[in-house]
Amino acid sequence: MGKTSKDKRDIYYRLAKEEGWRARSAFKLLQINEEYNIFNGVLRAVDLCAAPGSWSQVLTKKLKENASNVDDVKIVAVDLQAMAALPGVKQIQGDITKVSTAHEIIKEFEGSQADLVVCDGAPDVTGLHDIDEYVQSQLLLAALNITTHVLKNGGVFVAKIFRGKDVTLLYSQLKQFFELVTVSKPRSSRNSSIEAFVICQNYAPPAGFIPTMINPLLDHKYCDFNQLTGPNRFIVPFNVCGDLSAYDSDTSYSLLLEGQSKYEYKDPVQGPINPPYKDILEKTKNIQI
Ligand code: SAM
Repeated sequence: MGKTSKDKRDIYYRLAKEEGWRARSAFKLLQINEEYNIFNGVLRAVDLCAAPGSWSQVLTKKLKENASNVDDVKIVAVDLQAMAALPGVKQIQGDITKVSTAHEIIKEFEGSQADLVVCDGAPDVTGLHDIDEYVQSQLLLAALNITTHVLKNGGVFVAKIFRGKDVTLLYSQLKQFFELVTVSKPRSSRNSSIEAFVICQNYAPPAGFIPTMINPLLDHKYCDFNQLTGPNRFIVPFNVCGDLSAYDSDTSYSLLLEGQSKYEYKDPVQGPINPPYKDILEKTKNIQI
């Protein structure tokens, strides 16, 4: 397979390099914003599971556009992996499911709460859906716990979810904390992936709610959550976001797009700086098969 085949197969991968985004995920956040205007008035934001940093790049651009004084902009980015520096973004390397990392983030927002928390967290997918959904839900729960400590009332939380069979319970739980909960699939997210994003607007925790780092929501005995009835069952609106004329993420496109006369291969904007597979690449570099 040639160097250009991924550019043909994955239009958003290619556009990310051309437009200077570190990852194709940038388009997911941009398309969510087209639909929900999530950056409106936002000056302080947390980017959970941020590496390699394309959402932080989007946040930097959008929040600076909002600010009359760029010193008012505050962005905290957190990831297990090291992430190359981004001007104006405070980075924390850590596991968001660990209380110690959560405390570091919370400390950053003491005195000035965040307007927006985003989380694009994804575990290394095993292909075993039950396990993948479980680990993903742990990430989401950690993100929500942190959010309840740092988000201002009325603030917005956007997070990746896997739409598995117990997703109804998840919506009901989020609805306890936010007035408006929607689930959205940006056009840049592949149809073949079960990922979607919850857009939780207008943070309004239940009266008397005291944020903790304990998992307050998932301590239920297992049952079929799709059977929930009455106020426990909340059906969220689902929509696809991104302009209808936007590229389809599952389609291969010619290297010459409409209106272009020349194609030039571009390297990714920012490669991983210390990926977990680096060691093995080093060790196998000179092995002849
Ligand atoms: N939004 C990012 C961007 O635009 O560049 C891409 C995020 S990537 C899809 C998912 C990230 O989740 C990975 O960088 C991974 O290291 C991070 N992650 C997974 N589990 C984590 C955890 N427990 N704590 C912190 N980060 C985690």
